[in-house]
Amino acid sequence: MSKMTQRKSLDYVKKDYVRTRTMPANWHLTSYKYKFNITHMKPFLGKLKEQKLVANRCSGCNRVFYPPRLVCGKCLVKPDKWVDIRDTASVSTYAIAYLKDSETGEVVERPMVLVHHDGTDTSSIAELHPDIDVKDTYVGMPIKAHWREERSGGLMDIEYYDKIEDDAEDIKD
Ligand SMILES: [Zn+2]
Repeated sequence: MSKMTQRKSLDYVKKDYVRTRTMPANWHLTSYKYKFNITHMKPFLGKLKEQKLVANRCSGCNRVFYPPRLVCGKCLVKPDKWVDIRDTASVSTYAIAYLKDSETGEVVERPMVLVHHDGTDTSSIAELHPDIDVKDTYVGMPIKAHWREERSGGLMDIEYYDKIEDDAEDIKD
């Protein structure tokens, strides 16, 4: 049984800052359309539905991108190789989000983490299991993707990340 069903909706709590930075300027904006090309994501999204993770690799610098990138920012070429990656990862860094429960008004602290998947050279933002406390979150914490039971072939197919056993901690003991 998924924990997701028990989760309540939480709102971001905006703090009132005494002073903010201002930048005087005139902005001349005209209407424009922005098209985001996601054709390079298709093989990746298809695999998500099968509960598999793939990343793409740049043949110029050998960096592995997860999620896949349209273009390598260093080499300015399209990454052209698909590689299977595991669903294990670690926390690169994290920030504390203060979220307000829309029903009770209670403010909860939740870690927002940058996830670095094993075998890749990039990180992406994700959520941890809702029961994981901010105080128990640390940089380098090993985690594993938790898949939704019903997947749609989208980025939300990974519901959150679960904490897994830390081998480094055993070595310290
Ligand atoms: Zn490259």
